[in-house]
Amino acid sequence: MTTADRSQLLNSALAYAEAGWPIFPLRPGTKRPAFPNHTEATCDRSDRRCHDGHTGWEARATLDTGRIEAAWRHRPYGIAIACGPAGLLVVDLDPAKNGQPSGADTLAVLEEQAGQQLPATWTVGTPRGGRHLYYRQPNIRRPLGNTAGRLGPGIDTRGAGGYVVAPPTITTGPDGGPYWLVDDHEPADLPHWFSQLLTTSTRADRSRPILHNDQRQLHQIADTDRARRYVTRAVASELDRIVAAADGQRNHTLFCAAIALGQLAATGLVDQDQAEQQLLDAASAHVAAGAYSHHQARSTIASGLRRGLAEPRRLPADLTTTGAAS
Ligand SMILES: [Zn+2]
Repeated sequence: MTTADRSQLLNSALAYAEAGWPIFPLRPGTKRPAFPNHTEATCDRSDRRCHDGHTGWEARATLDTGRIEAAWRHRPYGIAIACGPAGLLVVDLDPAKNGQPSGADTLAVLEEQAGQQLPATWTVGTPRGGRHLYYRQPNIRRPLGNTAGRLGPGIDTRGAGGYVVAPPTITTGPDGGPYWLVDDHEPADLPHWFSQLLTTSTRADRSRPILHNDQRQLHQIADTDRARRYVTRAVASELDRIVAAADGQRNHTLFCAAIALGQLAATGLVDQDQAEQQLLDAASAHVAAGAYSHHQARSTIASGLRRGLAEPRRLPADLTTTGAAS
């Protein structure tokens, strides 16, 4: 069996919508959204839903039973749940690989440190032996976003801007297989201690540069609001490029962005570890969609950062204290 039964998929899709979880179709056999069939960068507005501007999968996710029935009667699409609009924060535990501990082992360490455990909740098994733990977001108006490896090896989280493949979807290919329900507990509230782990480390998210005094003196970069705004914008635009990368350009775009952030890190205006984390987070939707693996993303980022660090970005002259050398 390579695809799940269409009526089974339709019934599950309707059940998710009934639970208040907006869903959207995946191309059969894959983890990729079926619609739109293009990215923001390649949008020519010809798509009916893009007349007034590009509409991505998150905005297309729906609770509308009429639309859901029409779609799944048409084709045996896979099912994706848009985590942000669903008010869900899904903890994604990967199986052990490449000598790295499993997400479950990493979680056990976090629980030990916190002296608390994540409560039983709605849990989905993934084809390679991973687990998706579904929790309710603590603040639906300001949902937590995605993270990739931020909490430790083997743990990602999916929130606003992220989605999960839901049962009874079956993917094909070497990493493919069925998604299945492991535990049908009502989704529990994400415990405060766990959301704090995410918020304390995501507070620095999305391009708030950290200044390193020693390096800054070395490169004579002014620690001014203007310099920080310049760097913040430069970082944000690189991260946006990663998110919007078109098919076939995703790895190259990630590599180029890693070089750019490496060049900024070389000035001391951007923290290198933070840059690496931001790049991983920005790439996480592509990893989830199977464009490249987490391991590939990490190695692309590492080689881009290395190259960028060797070649510090020349900042506009009015942002440097002394005009620097030469
Ligand atoms: Zn579009």
